[in-house]
Amino acid sequence: SFKTVQDYLEQLNDAQRAPVLQKDGAMIVIAGAGSGKTRVLTYRIAYLMDQGVDAFNILALTFTNKAAREMKKRIAQIVGNSEAKNLWMGTFHSVFAKILRFEADKLGYPNNFTIYDTQDSQSVIRAVIKEMNLDKDVYKYKQVYSRISSYKNSLITVKAYFGNPELQEADAMAKMPRLGDIYKSYCDKCFKAGAMDFDDLLLKTNELLTRFPEVLAKYQNRFRYILVDEYQDTNHSQYLIVRALSDRFQNICVVGDDAQSIYAFRGANINNILNFQKDYDNVNVYRLEQNYRSTKNIVSAANSIIEKNKTRLEKVVWTANDEGAKIKVNRTMTDGDEGRFVASNIFETAMNNQSGYGDFAVLYRTNAQSRAIEDALRKKDIPYRIYGGLSFYQRKEIKDVIAYLRLILNPKDEEALKRVINYPARGIGQTTMERLTVAANHYGRSMFEVIKALDKIGGNLKINSGTKNKLQNFTTMIESFQVLNQTYNAFEIAEHVTKKTGLVTELKKDGTPEGIARIENIEELLNGMRDFVEEQKELADTSGSLAEFLEDVALATDLDNDKGDEDRVALMTVHLAKGLEFPYVYIVGMEEELFPSGMSMNTRAELEEERRLFYVALTRAEKQAYLTYTQSRYRWGKLIDAEPSRFIEEIDESFLEYLTPVTEQRYKPLIDADIFEDVDRSKLRLRKPTSGTPPKGPTEEQLRKLRRLKPVTSSTNKNFNAKDANLSEGTWVEHVRFGKGKIMKIEGVGADTKAEINFENGGLKKLLLRFAKLNVL
Ligand code: ATP
Ligand code: MG
Repeated sequence: SFKTVQDYLEQLNDAQRAPVLQKDGAMIVIAGAGSGKTRVLTYRIAYLMDQGVDAFNILALTFTNKAAREMKKRIAQIVGNSEAKNLWMGTFHSVFAKILRFEADKLGYPNNFTIYDTQDSQSVIRAVIKEMNLDKDVYKYKQVYSRISSYKNSLITVKAYFGNPELQEADAMAKMPRLGDIYKSYCDKCFKAGAMDFDDLLLKTNELLTRFPEVLAKYQNRFRYILVDEYQDTNHSQYLIVRALSDRFQNICVVGDDAQSIYAFRGANINNILNFQKDYDNVNVYRLEQNYRSTKNIVSAANSIIEKNKTRLEKVVWTANDEGAKIKVNRTMTDGDEGRFVASNIFETAMNNQSGYGDFAVLYRTNAQSRAIEDALRKKDIPYRIYGGLSFYQRKEIKDVIAYLRLILNPKDEEALKRVINYPARGIGQTTMERLTVAANHYGRSMFEVIKALDKIGGNLKINSGTKNKLQNFTTMIESFQVLNQTYNAFEIAEHVTKKTGLVTELKKDGTPEGIARIENIEELLNGMRDFVEEQKELADTSGSLAEFLEDVALATDLDNDKGDEDRVALMTVHLAKGLEFPYVYIVGMEEELFPSGMSMNTRAELEEERRLFYVALTRAEKQAYLTYTQSRYRWGKLIDAEPSRFIEEIDESFLEYLTPVTEQRYKPLIDADIFEDVDRSKLRLRKPTSGTPPKGPTEEQLRKLRRLKPVTSSTNKNFNAKDANLSEGTWVEHVRFGKGKIMKIEGVGADTKAEINFENGGLKKLLLRFAKLNVL
């Protein structure tokens, strides 16, 4: 901890100190990865407070709530905990959700509005599509959701949508002429349920600030100093909020790196950073050049990558750190082998360097890749944690508990009600639910309200008195929870709810290992809630109410649930890794069509975003980076031939060390994976060098020779005949990947000859012989 201002200012270099010491005005810090941008923000806040700025007047927006918490802890070390408590810090979503809680009534929402998560939103959209009798194969609910989401983030409301023929035309062209109607109905339903989705938290904030000048003035006055981390990934909606709030005092400090802008697909707009200087008067631009995170090798390799992008701001990044080891590149046969390589390597590295498993991260492009890595880590008993994917709070049993808790605060919450009104089973059937839905629509009320009014309107609904009792027992139970909620904290309420509703009893009856695991998860949830209550008291001076907890859950990114005290290997997508750092980083699946993603290489802009993503991945590493790829991989349920990513070739070779032979690795012959008969041929392409001939690689002539050495196209083996090779039922053969096996059956002729082989390791497989490359034993 620090004693004086001078003490902590010494922890900064000159370039970093300058934006910290500029107390007022607009400023932007543009700098490459690991150069201390986040550190500048942190120290700037401490310095402002030292200069007498009230913590209540400072607003800091970060990429994750975890980042905000860490910043707050750091600041607390400098200025003291009681002062730091009053800082407003968090993600855009969490900060503005809090503000909307105060102001929701102005927009016609209840202050206890529910925040719908993606699953809730998609479920509402699915219901709308069904109600409107639209073809669900044309109106795919996920696609509809993401279109609506992008409208919201561009501030295109339903009204704006219907006033814009171009948008309607575009949707009609995309075969979704009714999109606007779905959009409208979706918004109506959310409104009626007293619910906002994620995008609403920004959209409604904008609405609030534009429609109510006195509200805008209040928050402008409150947030006199605004700071934004990762500014390159703000979307239009976020941009407008920052712009509006900072307009009066213009004390705004944003930091970012255009080379790390990786959320364009979710509406992030790089122009926000490029145009910042035009948005405010007298903007000071600061640049940081020294990287403190990584070795020379990693910094230079990352520089050599990002240079390939045409659209970028020129930046210098250098480091005084050690040269370090070269980036290690490893090739394997399958993704299973890749997982095993990573696991053994982590094991050895941890042993050799006496480092904990928390020093390691495995980064991938898509969540699906985690499985092979997990399997391998589990076999080696290496502890790990997966971030993203199906998060803890998305598990069924957890969502069930949360649904009850949500109903306590907002009984209008339809998604929550539908989820648990008959779970555990209470004899409330589908037909009853349909009748309630019709009535709710008819009276313009929520289902909860309809149930409460059944004594008056029950006759019209054809709900018999037995069912009516069951329904009303449910609402009475929820209301009894509401009473308790006035005196007890989040943990106490939840504990009561899990008992009283019969949720745990239900799972105990189940008795299967899955059932037991679910009970354990619920216990874990309760533990988490207990911690939450303690932490709220400690860090934020509040009671840890249910309302606070639910808000925290609704907005938790998976990173936020990290307790941070576990020494585990971190597994996550590259997107999630932004802003983080680890001594050892494994970037797996470095293959064409995977990284860069096959869905993002159609235009230069898309490819450049993939390259920035790779830059982000590589720059997470402090000491050592590994790039791994495999020659074949299961994707979409099929085994496909994979080729090394162009990004490996783009790194200057002097920074790389190949753990497997270079030529083969870089210039794989045409098709050499084993091909099952169901392989989608369109996925197999001839390999071509992607960016001309890379430095020090073989010449075109050598390449051709290499290719001739391993002719595996169908032409040479076209007339393959099982008899020629002495293959028949009962023959023992050996296969490169599956090992020894016995031929059980041969079928087909010529090029189509297939053998069914029972492999000792791989089990029964059917292979096309012309590709299978078998040795007869
Ligand atoms: P990214 O672009 O990845 O978000 P960043 O620019 O925000 O990176 P930081 O995370 O702030 O960089 O800093 C990178 C690392 O360097 C951190 O571990 C930080 O503590 C350290 N660091 C930053 N500045 C200094 C300094 N002046 N002296 C020592 N260490 C520093
Ligand atoms: Mg940072």
